[in-house]
Amino acid sequence: MSELIRIRSLTKHFDMGRGQRVHAIDNISFDIAEREIVGLVGESGSGKSTLGKTLLGLHDKTAGEVYYRDELLPQHYHSSDYRRHARRMQMIFQDPYSSLNPRMTVGEIIAEGPRLHGMMTAAQAREAAGEWLRRVGLHPDHMSRYPHEFSGGQRQRIGIARALILEPEFVVCDEPISALDVSVQAQVVNLLSELQASLGLTLLFIAHDLSMVRYVSDRMAVMYLGSLVEIGPVDEVYFEPRHPYTQVLIASNPEPDPESERQRVSTSIRGEISSPVNVPEGCRFAARCPRAMEECRRVTPVLKPVDESGRLVACHLY
Ligand code: SF4
Repeated sequence: MSELIRIRSLTKHFDMGRGQRVHAIDNISFDIAEREIVGLVGESGSGKSTLGKTLLGLHDKTAGEVYYRDELLPQHYHSSDYRRHARRMQMIFQDPYSSLNPRMTVGEIIAEGPRLHGMMTAAQAREAAGEWLRRVGLHPDHMSRYPHEFSGGQRQRIGIARALILEPEFVVCDEPISALDVSVQAQVVNLLSELQASLGLTLLFIAHDLSMVRYVSDRMAVMYLGSLVEIGPVDEVYFEPRHPYTQVLIASNPEPDPESERQRVSTSIRGEISSPVNVPEGCRFAARCPRAMEECRRVTPVLKPVDESGRLVACHLY
């Protein structure tokens, strides 16, 4: 597989005024291969969504580079060069309730992108929107209805149609199921999986649910307080996590099987995730890590290979 996306030292800080800066993501580097699904996990506040949005240019980068098929993406999303790439990189948002314009019909919402990008005439875009409604499991007759007439799962299907009608190659799925009822989560994940396979999409799948990430992903990437701490083949990371944070994150993940859940030794991560405004020196997990050493508070660990599987871990234990 060749690399579709290469991310190098990607950093995004938000200036809060009065000299305070939120270190949302710091110095993140990894590649995403063509047709690969990388699952991105971590607690709330770890910077997962900011990474996805910065990758797509929805936030300007503070530092670092993103390459798309070896072409360096411009620094600013609003440059005409960036717009040239924008169609090929799409996002499916977390909240299907707020991401659809309530004043537009579903047909208008789905057909808007191809018209704005000059891909289709209005008539062609309308026909393609009807076809995409069918592909995501809705009915072309739904074109003239408004978002509020649909359930959460149906609205997320509309969001998927709106993104994929643009024929992107790379899609960031930003917690696409976390706002949905448990009963419809698997249906939406299965739809995304089917479309990824049939269209040959490359996905960054951001989620809280580690079992779901394991189910859909080729590799799993783990973030903590704006840093990437572990990345590798999904089963290796899930069943044999190496970074102490990944170990507690996976041990505290509820098992879907109630019997396994009963037998599981309860493990929780002590303390709260630190503030991204006052990022500690050295390893960012040191204050909560059961294996922290003196060196951990002084020296920032870098990602390095720890086995033959291609797994990388940022921890002084390796
Ligand atoms: Fe724990 Fe040190 Fe590894 Fe950080 S570098 S995870 S503090 S052992």
